[in-house]
Amino acid sequence: FNQLLEVLRRQMGELRNLSTTDALTGLSNRRAFDERLNYLLVRHARHGTHSALIVLDVDHFKRYNDALGHPAGDEALRAIARALRLTVRRQLDMPARIGGEEFGVLLEDADATSALACAEAIRTAVEALAIDHPDSPDSPDSVPSRHLSVSCGVATFQAGDTPDALYQRADHALYASKQAGRNRVTLADPAAPRP
Ligand code: GH3
Ligand code: MG
Ligand code: MG
Repeated sequence: FNQLLEVLRRQMGELRNLSTTDALTGLSNRRAFDERLNYLLVRHARHGTHSALIVLDVDHFKRYNDALGHPAGDEALRAIARALRLTVRRQLDMPARIGGEEFGVLLEDADATSALACAEAIRTAVEALAIDHPDSPDSPDSVPSRHLSVSCGVATFQAGDTPDALYQRADHALYASKQAGRNRVTLADPAAPRP
């Protein structure tokens, strides 16, 4: 009976891991990420702990897939996930894959300065992977090509924030990074209007 219990316990653990892990990259998945975001928002409301959200989106990834094929795209996502894991090392921080070619990082106990520094470190780490992008439209003069890059948006927790409000500010900052030419980091305006 004890052996049976042990088997069940192990299988429950494996199921829990599967339900919170992204299969392609091994990072946390969106579900686990949202759970932690809720937890951090409660902490922020109760104790005023300052946390931050970074959202990252791979630049011109559709063209990358179109040029090299979906399996190569998957491999690039894995490489970016590894860079993310190596860069975000504090026990308090959670890197995750939150969408197809979108990643997120939750930084517990981080102010705008340290969150920006973390996002910049990630951006640099991805750039340093030097994954050739054979069809990047950004700088036609670079030969033979540009490297794969990510754009980032950073939002710090504000009083009264909901998950949606935070995501929206971070997304808005990410969009600004894209508009400004990609491969860069933008800090969200903390006073941006709420949805
Ligand atoms: P932008 O710089 O504006 O973000 O351009 P983009 O091409 O990255 O943006 P868009 O949203 O048009 O394309 C995202 C692409 O990401 C399209 C889709 O094929 C690809 N993608 C999403 N999820 C996966 C995945 O799991 N594997 C692979 N290989 N590709 C994926
Ligand atoms: Mg995208
Ligand atoms: Mg993209």
